[in-house]
Amino acid sequence: MTGRNQSNPGEFPQYLCKMCGKCCKSITTEHTYEELEEMTKNGSESARVFIDVFRPYPGLKEAKKHVPDQVEQILDELGNKEGFDISKVTFYYCPHHSEENQCGIYENRPECCRRAPNNPWSCMPPGCGFEGWQFEEREKIKREIRKLKEYLIALQAVAEDGMVPGKDITVDELRKIIDKKISRWEKYGSRLW
Ligand code: SF4
Ligand code: SF4
Repeated sequence: MTGRNQSNPGEFPQYLCKMCGKCCKSITTEHTYEELEEMTKNGSESARVFIDVFRPYPGLKEAKKHVPDQVEQILDELGNKEGFDISKVTFYYCPHHSEENQCGIYENRPECCRRAPNNPWSCMPPGCGFEGWQFEEREKIKREIRKLKEYLIALQAVAEDGMVPGKDITVDELRKIIDKKISRWEKYGSRLW
């Protein structure tokens, strides 16, 4: 988001941000505004910070009027996701983003701005400097999941007595642990990787 930080190797590559400010004008979450309010009531700090900082556009029409290409691209990406329901999509803007493309609370900007995109699958506006990084990160996760699946298949073939060779754990228990890891990425398609 608007403002530049230097990054050390291994850290989040903040330097990739082009400071275009597009994400300050068109952000959406996987939860509706009402869900975010509910989550806030239930103690979610990230939901509280989000609704504290961002303001919802009154509707998709309004959002498209302000940031048409961004809304179109994000809707296109979301449309490919399982269970996508356009009636649940809300776009937000940040009131701290100035006409001069500056962040009015740069020193105190929330964590979600310091580390945007927060997830390799986050829908970012067209031309975002993190496009390549997101692609690489997604591929890295897919490779890890494939490795885990291959490991399970290989294990099944050698574990005659149901125990993992050399370990005090059954194949079944290990499968459950690995399945849990894979299911973390299920909404992004991990079952098919
Ligand atoms: S859209 Fe991407 S490049 Fe532009 S400010 Fe946001 S994070 Fe930075
Ligand atoms: S707080 Fe600053 S960096 Fe975050 S969305 Fe608003 S203007 Fe952008």
